[in-house]
Amino acid sequence: MRAGRMDAFPGKRLRSGRSFAGAKLSQHAAARCHLALPAVLPWQGLYKADQRFGPGVETYPDGSQDVGLWFREHLIKLCTPSPGGFSLLSYPEFSSFLTHSAARISLAEEAETERGLQEGQDPFFYEYKRLLLHDDLTLPPEMCVYSTDSEHLPMTSSFRQELDARIFLNDIPPFVEDGEPWFITNETPLLVRIQKQTYRFRNKPEHSSWNMGAILEGKRSGFALCGPKEGLAMEMILKAEEGNHDWIYGVLKDNFASADVADAKGYTVLAAAATHCHNHVVSLLLDCGADVNKCSDEGLTPLSMCFLLYYPARSFKPNIAERTVPKPQEPPKLPVAPILSSFMDTNLESLNYEVNVPSQGSYELRPHVLGSQERGVSQGTRLSGKSVDRRSSSLKGDSPLVKGSLGHVESGLEDAPRNTNQRPPCSAETNLESNVCVCSFPIELSQAMLEKSAQSHSLLRTASPSPRTSSSDKGTIRRMALSMLERKRRWRTIQLLLRRGADPNLCRVPVQGLFLAVKAGDTDGVRLLLERGARTDVRFPPQLGALTPLHIAAALPGEEGVRIVELLLHAITDVDAKAADEDDTYDPGRVDLLPSSLKLSNEPGPPRAYYGTHPPLPEEGGRTALHVACEREDSNKCARDIVRLLLSHRANPDLLWSGHSPLSLSIASGNDLVVKELLTQGADPNLPLTKGLGSALCVACDLTYEHQRSMDSRLALIDRLLSHGADILKPVTLRQGEKVAVGTAVDYGYFKFFQDRKIAHSPFHTLMPAEREAFVARKRLLEYMGLQLRQAVFAKESQWDPTWLYLCKRAELIPSHRMKKKSPSLPKGLDVKERKQIPFFKFCYQCGRSVGVRLLPCPRCYGILTCSKYCKTKAWAEFHKKDCGDLVAMGRSALRLAARLPLLLSAKARAWGSGEGTLVSRNLSRFRPLSQHFQMGLLGGGRQGATEAAWLFLTYCGSERLVLTLAGDTTPSWQSWNMDLWGLS
Ligand SMILES: [Zn+2]
Ligand SMILES: [Zn+2]
Repeated sequence: MRAGRMDAFPGKRLRSGRSFAGAKLSQHAAARCHLALPAVLPWQGLYKADQRFGPGVETYPDGSQDVGLWFREHLIKLCTPSPGGFSLLSYPEFSSFLTHSAARISLAEEAETERGLQEGQDPFFYEYKRLLLHDDLTLPPEMCVYSTDSEHLPMTSSFRQELDARIFLNDIPPFVEDGEPWFITNETPLLVRIQKQTYRFRNKPEHSSWNMGAILEGKRSGFALCGPKEGLAMEMILKAEEGNHDWIYGVLKDNFASADVADAKGYTVLAAAATHCHNHVVSLLLDCGADVNKCSDEGLTPLSMCFLLYYPARSFKPNIAERTVPKPQEPPKLPVAPILSSFMDTNLESLNYEVNVPSQGSYELRPHVLGSQERGVSQGTRLSGKSVDRRSSSLKGDSPLVKGSLGHVESGLEDAPRNTNQRPPCSAETNLESNVCVCSFPIELSQAMLEKSAQSHSLLRTASPSPRTSSSDKGTIRRMALSMLERKRRWRTIQLLLRRGADPNLCRVPVQGLFLAVKAGDTDGVRLLLERGARTDVRFPPQLGALTPLHIAAALPGEEGVRIVELLLHAITDVDAKAADEDDTYDPGRVDLLPSSLKLSNEPGPPRAYYGTHPPLPEEGGRTALHVACEREDSNKCARDIVRLLLSHRANPDLLWSGHSPLSLSIASGNDLVVKELLTQGADPNLPLTKGLGSALCVACDLTYEHQRSMDSRLALIDRLLSHGADILKPVTLRQGEKVAVGTAVDYGYFKFFQDRKIAHSPFHTLMPAEREAFVARKRLLEYMGLQLRQAVFAKESQWDPTWLYLCKRAELIPSHRMKKKSPSLPKGLDVKERKQIPFFKFCYQCGRSVGVRLLPCPRCYGILTCSKYCKTKAWAEFHKKDCGDLVAMGRSALRLAARLPLLLSAKARAWGSGEGTLVSRNLSRFRPLSQHFQMGLLGGGRQGATEAAWLFLTYCGSERLVLTLAGDTTPSWQSWNMDLWGLS
């Protein structure tokens, strides 16, 4: 037929006048050939490039029909589903992952790609290719002379259109987009092309006689009885499930069927052989040209199916990355289950297979599966448990697996295994049938036994290869051994598929194979996948948090988590990849707190001079793997190792999620090993946190997280933070509703303390013992923080001159105080100008609070502030009794001077005005520029000006540490004040 069409174009004259005489139409143009012949003809269907390509029906003289999608001489997709097909419907736990919406067929898009000139994407783009885009640029004359292969002569797009127009005479424009575009039902590249080809011809009248649509939809019912090719193809899928190598070999050898044939759902022969672990059949099919990456209509490649079977949902470890860890309040129904999952899934996998219980993603073992066994079986179990138990001491730790599981048990859920151990391992009274399954026994031993059994079974050729037939076996060990054997075989199938070119990155439905291996904590699986080029930048769908494998690996309990993180980091992995959970809040959710009863009234916080420079606000976003590892509350050592690995791969420790930095998360989660690791590796303890969390120190004294560690380790934590440079004087903004105040970490601690109103405000004797304990502990922590704050302030103040500082404090405290209590000892006009003051942080020197308290100075010395009678008494007893006298003396001498100076100076000022002041001014020039103030004061005239000047001078002298002698004054703190220097005596 095609030849006939060819003849229609014996030689074409193109616009440019160049002749293509004798040139066969290129593949492209011929591709549009199709058949439309009366129903009596044996074959109806679509062609492309002279070959069957797409839906078609072959009718035989006996009336039977082969219906399906054809590729060359074979059916590659049938219209009937195979009875044993593999479907995602039996994996409801993954339903939330199925977010991939099918691509649509678009002809416009196709035309674009057929021109094949995407300069950016084409690695072989050469300048001359652009010629084909421009119709002005035509091919050289007589070009066909130079080409021996006229099939592959290039065409300009207009020439192509012209050819189309000639061939499809009545159908111009031949391909119109009308009606709804189709969804692509199978995304295997070959099938996509077939679907597009079909889409083009969907409305052609020639194809209305045979039901093209029904074939595409997999509806076989409208056709006649199944023909020989179809029957053979279906038979082959079944034989592949059985593993009948020789039968399949016979069919393929004589080319009776395609090795790539699939049922109506896209379940291929290869998938059938692979899911049933018939490796020799898999090899045979691949040798015969089956596409190892061909996917089913659900998007599952044979490899994905094997992964789904190899990693059933119950093998997944609970992890905080996905928030699948059961809440600690509710006791786990069967605490050992997650730990033993690696063992149990081997067991239940096959059992499950038989009874066809869909796995639910829960960690609960299903006793009814085992409970359905006969009495004899459980008897066997009991016996095996006993014998195993007796040998426990000798067997302990003799296999790496045993060690692993033991270590895991100890480091992981501390309380869970204890319960199991307390349970009598195999008392005869235990009701084995109803509620206890094999896993209630010391499992590490059964595991060892089973491994041996499995090994011996694997040596026996009599072990039935199919799980179906094994259901008739009696004896739990034998069943388990079989399932273990099965698991090993499946592992070999996975290895074979990968070796034969299966692309692990195409296993993306329902979720990437790498995720399954990581979730199951299977180090070997992860390693194999990474070796085969699995990408690590894959993510969960956004509504599931867009987690990466690294996130989940960082949350895996046990040593395997550490190893998997290491493997992932050695592959090219973005260590700082953020999950899409920036709107989540970190909420251990154990304390339900009211608004604080602390009053906030715009306190300004510590002055700028008291704390170091403010680091820039950190970046905030979703969780990184480091956040996940720091958030963990289980297996502290493993979490620490993971944090170490992440940091050594340059994970950024200063990113925020939910207001928290990794450091503050590890403080909140109670993992001090991680805290230590972060601090030594350079995490900034002063990183400002958002969402009202203040800083790491605030989180450390936050009662929300107080249950995580003992009192002593909380104090040690605060010490550790301080020793790594945490600045307790950093301002912390407190907010409650409209009210705002700036304080320190101590104020944050009190703010939180007053959120638990019952404990904070009830009289002590009305509290329950536990509450009393909490109250005492909180008080102790806050007092400790207050002490640290006071020491920090003292350390800061020691950098300044004590006298000057003291005078500043006094000057600031006295005027306000004097309003209430007139102090006769102060001369007038002693106000120190604001601008020259040392800033003064007003806080309670005893408890450290600066927000929501009324601060009163020590009435004797005005050197310190306290917030209450209690604090005043306590401060006096603890430290101020010693300091107060010194401060008073310092103040007294300064005041005496201040009181005397103006008189002296004003007397001398007059003399100075008349020329006697030269001595004064000469001496004063030594104190430039201070002398300017002095002179200004003198010249400003009057007693007032002189007083102020003298005051200033005095204080400046103090700050310059001058040693002066004051005639007639022997106050010890002011060693001497030599008025002779000024010629004033
Ligand atoms: Zn106080
Ligand atoms: Zn005092």
